[in-house]
Amino acid sequence: MKVVAERTSVVTKKQKTKACITVSDTMKILCDHMLGSLATWLRILGVDTFYPDAEMSDEELLQIATNEHRLVISRDKQLIARGKKRKIPVLELQTTSLDDQLGVVLGSIPIETSQILTRCTLCNTPLLSIEKNEVKGQVPSKVFESQKDFWYCPHCKKYYWMGTHYHNMMQKINMLTKKNDT
Ligand SMILES: [Zn+2]
Repeated sequence: MKVVAERTSVVTKKQKTKACITVSDTMKILCDHMLGSLATWLRILGVDTFYPDAEMSDEELLQIATNEHRLVISRDKQLIARGKKRKIPVLELQTTSLDDQLGVVLGSIPIETSQILTRCTLCNTPLLSIEKNEVKGQVPSKVFESQKDFWYCPHCKKYYWMGTHYHNMMQKINMLTKKNDT
């Protein structure tokens, strides 16, 4: 998704990391049940983010985090404590504000600008770039006429393009990363 990368002006820096996190360029995340909005945003930012079914137990979450080497992000002190005990990397959040949560996460893990908007926000699958002529009839004709680049989630069969929501999103990301730099 090169086009996206060229249009973004987000500044990424390798941030100082919190004691319990070893940052790698391919940091994978697991958000707990309560952090659905954060999970969606992390996927927008291109971060491989696991978000559990409501029925999943803490035990299952920690198992997945272990097996898939995921950083556990949670507001649940118990879950954080259990993760620490097992030497799973954890990031505890104390705020319910999405902006503040994103601020904390962006301050702890690196975001690759070239990865922004490369992942389906619904299911976490990497998006495929798709030829414009294959999209005809699949998206509103206004969108088809005004957009050049399209992406597709092979799992959800959902099409993506850079509409107005994209520009609002980038504004928010820029704002959050700027706040982080100060
Ligand atoms: Zn999907």
